[in-house]
Amino acid sequence: MTSKRDAHSVALGAGREFDAIRLLLERWGVRATGIGDDAAVLDLPRGDSLVASVDAAVEGIHFERDWLTPREIGYRAVAAALSDLAAMAARPVGVLIALGLPDDWHNDLEGIGDGIGDAVDYAGTRIAGGNISVTRLLSITTTVLGSVYAPLRRDALRAGDTLYVTGRLGGPRAAIRELRAGRVATPVYRERFARPRPRLREALWLADRGATSAIDISDGLVADLGHLTAASGKLSIEVELSRLPRIDALEPLDAAASGEEYELIVGAPQTIDTQLFERTFGLTLTAIGTAGASGDGVMLHLNGERVANPGGYDHLSL
Ligand SMILES: [Mg+2]
Repeated sequence: MTSKRDAHSVALGAGREFDAIRLLLERWGVRATGIGDDAAVLDLPRGDSLVASVDAAVEGIHFERDWLTPREIGYRAVAAALSDLAAMAARPVGVLIALGLPDDWHNDLEGIGDGIGDAVDYAGTRIAGGNISVTRLLSITTTVLGSVYAPLRRDALRAGDTLYVTGRLGGPRAAIRELRAGRVATPVYRERFARPRPRLREALWLADRGATSAIDISDGLVADLGHLTAASGKLSIEVELSRLPRIDALEPLDAAASGEEYELIVGAPQTIDTQLFERTFGLTLTAIGTAGASGDGVMLHLNGERVANPGGYDHLSL
């Protein structure tokens, strides 16, 4: 897609791959304009750094075809990739999409394309280029490009910093549990699994108010807290599981171990006004503990009793 000048009028070659590109460019409209040369040219504010990340969503590994609509699959793949920009407090400047499209997914291409468009709209960014190839399983590989002056980093947590988490956790884990059991997922859980929200605006707000470190929750709160404390030089944190923010009546362990949340954990040396955050975004911000210098990593308590670490999220364990 990057090699064609005008999304709407260019004469693409014959053949099914070009048909697929034409169809996507039609669905995307202005969201894919600016595609115009062998590669995308994107403007960054002077002095900013380019932030880049790539993420693959593969059928049978990251999602099951029966669990989500094609539109949700397209949305979720791109939203998950954009979440890594949020974790750096970067502003998105464009995404590149590499689509692996099997023959038996051809009729779902419109839905997939619309879902990709939904995610791009949500993030206020655009599709700057892409590629389609024929594959055996559906895969959507998204490269996200962002711009930042002072990124939040995993290795910037310091002893004494307060750790906060956005949103209420547990929904994706609960949805997958129901879907695996062959049940219809409870709508509020399913929504969190099918329509995760990359916390891009929230991250900028938090960075403006003193957050210095961050990670997005892809592996589960406890596992990602482990990544954060390890990256920052063997710190520790004690977490009381019963106080974790969670959806409905879900168990504390659901909040602790649920992966693919795409909420943010941030660390800040100063207090952040959680009520102002909630009023601004309609989303909770919860202080979950203070980083310590002991090097013990993540220590969990449930109603005051020490409990074992639930381990990381294993995607669909296929
Ligand atoms: Mg991440």
